Amino acid sequence: MQLKDYIATIENYPTEGIIFRDISPLMADGNAYNYAVTEIVQYARDKEIDVIVGPEARGFIVGCPVAFALGVGFAPVRKPGKLPREVISADYEKEYGTDTLTMHADSIKPGQRVLIVDDLLATGGTVKATIEMVERLGGIVVGCAFFIELDALKGREKLGDYDYKVLMHY
Ligand code: 5GP
Repeated sequence: MQLKDYIATIENYPTEGIIFRDISPLMADGNAYNYAVTEIVQYARDKEIDVIVGPEARGFIVGCPVAFALGVGFAPVRKPGKLPREVISADYEKEYGTDTLTMHADSIKPGQRVLIVDDLLATGGTVKATIEMVERLGGIVVGCAFFIELDALKGREKLGDYDYKVLMHY
């Protein structure tokens, strides 16, 4: 399947000069969504994963069906103020200033094997902050998976030696 046929490209969104890759046509097509999720499930299958971790909001769209297919749990990563119980947080660099992500402090148990999933890897700030939180909770990051990587933004460099899987490169 040519997954890129299901990615819409929007110029100057959300701000002037940005080219946004929109996964919603892929999500809207049952065959394409199933195909893309299955690719990540196959990548994950032999990794003995205990928990899938995904950042809001599109990390839920990719990560929850992967967790369901593997029969494992899903732990959400959210912006501050969205999770109701005790959280841990990590800051990361954005184009202008810093941003913060949070996870419930009990969402990963020490020693659990974690796959981090999101729709898209850009600068890598989101995944790096997520890795930091998972490891602070004692989790073992056994891989990261994305539908899309924006190669020019060099997020791969932030991933260092962590294993990762990408379905489409731009
Ligand atoms: P990073 O932290 O790697 O710079 O940015 C990745 C995060 O921003 C992901 O959570 C992703 O959903 C979002 N993001 C950044 N650019 C795009 C884009 O062009 N398309 C989509 N779908 N998400 C993006």
